[in-house]
Amino acid sequence: MNTPDTPDTPNTALAWVAEGTALCAKALEGLDETAYAAPSPLPGWTRKHVVAHLAGNAEAVGNLVRWARTGVPTPMYASPAQRAEAIEAGAGLPGEQLTVWFRESARALADAMAALTGDQWRAEVVTAQGRTVPVSETPWMRSREVMVHAVDLGTGPGFADLPEAFLAELRADILARRGRDTVPAVHGSPAEITAYLAGRPCTGVTTTDGLPAEPLTPWL
Ligand code: ZN
Repeated sequence: MNTPDTPDTPNTALAWVAEGTALCAKALEGLDETAYAAPSPLPGWTRKHVVAHLAGNAEAVGNLVRWARTGVPTPMYASPAQRAEAIEAGAGLPGEQLTVWFRESARALADAMAALTGDQWRAEVVTAQGRTVPVSETPWMRSREVMVHAVDLGTGPGFADLPEAFLAELRADILARRGRDTVPAVHGSPAEITAYLAGRPCTGVTTTDGLPAEPLTPWL
């Protein structure tokens, strides 16, 4: 990112979006139809579902960026059902087409974010979960998606390959969302604990009594 450092521009998260996007693009390289149709670690989702979700998410986050730029309220999705239907429909596309959709939607989002001014980054928008946030939170929202789903694609990085500063922020974010009281205290490497908190396959994560931690439901 060549945007100058200003207090209003979320440059760290923008860099994470770029890094996660590159990881996903690399993970998709060379996937044939069989590999594309293989299951992901997410229940009921193939790799195609993951990529359709990522492309749809880029467009949905793009709606919030447009909202911030124009002042015209544009929700991420028309409804949760519309989001789910778009993922199912997208999962029926040929892999090659999904790869193109992923790349083009990610590029359009990066361009739209790069064009926001400091004032526009402060504009308030409403997320799909109904939270009112400054649009400057959207690069963080998008970076979670591209980083974690790059691991879900299962052909490239693991959690240990993601930046520790990103993982630390992700752990704090997931703990806050799940509710600190609902997650047991666990031991393990920071990367494996992050995978555990995200409800992803992990190794060597134990509770305080030394037993393997019970898996959590996947955070999408
Ligand atoms: Zn997701």
